[in-house]
Amino acid sequence: MPMITKVIPEESIVETLNLINKASKIVIVAHKRPDGDAVGSSLGLYHFLYSHEKETTIILPDGIPDYLQCLPCAKEILNFETQELDAKKAISECDLIFCLDFNDLSRIGAMAGIIGESPVMKVMIDHHLHNSGFCDVTISHPEIASTSELVFRLICRMGYFTEMSLESAECICAGMLTDTGGLTYNANSPEIYSIICELLRKGVDKDALTRKLFDNYSESRMRLMGYMMYKKMQVLKEYQTAILTLSYDEMLRFNYKPGDSEGFVNMPLTIGDVICSIFIKEERGVMKLSFRSQGNFNVSKMASELFGGGGHFNASGAESTLSMDETVKIVKEALPKYYQEYSENL
Ligand code: 5GP
Ligand code: MN
Repeated sequence: MPMITKVIPEESIVETLNLINKASKIVIVAHKRPDGDAVGSSLGLYHFLYSHEKETTIILPDGIPDYLQCLPCAKEILNFETQELDAKKAISECDLIFCLDFNDLSRIGAMAGIIGESPVMKVMIDHHLHNSGFCDVTISHPEIASTSELVFRLICRMGYFTEMSLESAECICAGMLTDTGGLTYNANSPEIYSIICELLRKGVDKDALTRKLFDNYSESRMRLMGYMMYKKMQVLKEYQTAILTLSYDEMLRFNYKPGDSEGFVNMPLTIGDVICSIFIKEERGVMKLSFRSQGNFNVSKMASELFGGGGHFNASGAESTLSMDETVKIVKEALPKYYQEYSENL
C-alpha cells in the first residue's frame, strides 16, 4: 500500500466495502458527454469489481468519444441512448449502483428518472462542487483532481492495492491524466505523483497511454482547430477572456466527430494575458458551454449563475437553450461583473 494520506473517511470505506461484498450485480453510471475521467474511473472500478466476481455493467447516458475506445473493456460500456432496453434491464436487476464523476442527477440526462427512483443503495464517488446528496454513501472530494484518483484511493483503503490489475491501473491512470491535462493543471498535489508512481509499478505504459489519449486525432480535427483559432477566436483584452463558438454548419464542413473539439477550450489560455476561455458549441440545437480559467477567476459561479451549470472553480460547463447569438450576448454582458469580482480578489 503506497504512503498516501487518508482522504476518504474510514466510515465511507467500510460502508462501501460492505455494500460491494453483499452485492452480486452492480451498475456503474457516469455523466453525459463523458470525458476521460468519467470513463477512466468507471472502467477502473469495473475491472476491480469484475476481478471480485461481481457482475458489473457500466451505463453512460450517451456514447463515448473515439479517443477513449482504447481503454480496456471500453467496448463493454452500454450507451443508454442506443441500448436502452439492455441498460434498463441491468438497472432493474442490480443490487448496488455507483455514481461516478457527477453529483447531481441532471448530469445523467434521460437516465435521471430511472437512477433516482431505483430502490437499491447508491454510492457516489465524485470531485465536483455542490454535491446534491442523492446517494446513500457519498465520497465527495472537490479538492481531489479526479474521480479516478478517488477510485484508486478507495481500492487501496479497502485493502486491495496488491490485487489491482493492470487494466484497472491503466484506466485510473487515463482518468488522472485527462482531468489534469496530462498533469499540467490541478496537479500540484505531491500525492498525485505517488499514485502515478504506483500505477507505473503496476505496469502502466504512461507514455503510450498519453499518446493514445492526447495525440490520436484526425486530420479534419486539426484543420477545424486551425480554423477555430484563426477565424473564430474572439479575444476580449479588457476582460482577459477569449470566446470560441462552433456551429452545427461548421461541424458539417469539417467532418466533425464526437470528441473532435476536446481541448479547444484550453488553447486560448496559452495566450499570456488570457485567464478565462469560453467555448460554445451547438449540439442538437442546444448550446453547450465550456468554461476554463486560471487562478482566482471563478468560472463555476459564472456557469451556474448564467445558465444553471456548474463544475469546478477553474473548469465548468453549462447548457443554454437560447440561440448561439443570444448565448454569446449573455456571456459578453456578464463578463464585466465576473472580471471585476476577479480583480477585486487579486
Ligand atoms: P466540460 O467543459 O469539459 O464539458 O466540463 C467541465 C466541467 O464542468 C466538468 O467537470 C463537468 O463535469 C462540468 N460540467 C460540464 N457541463 C456541465 C453542465 O451542463 N452542468 C454542470 N452542473 N456541470 C457541467
Ligand atoms: Mn472528473
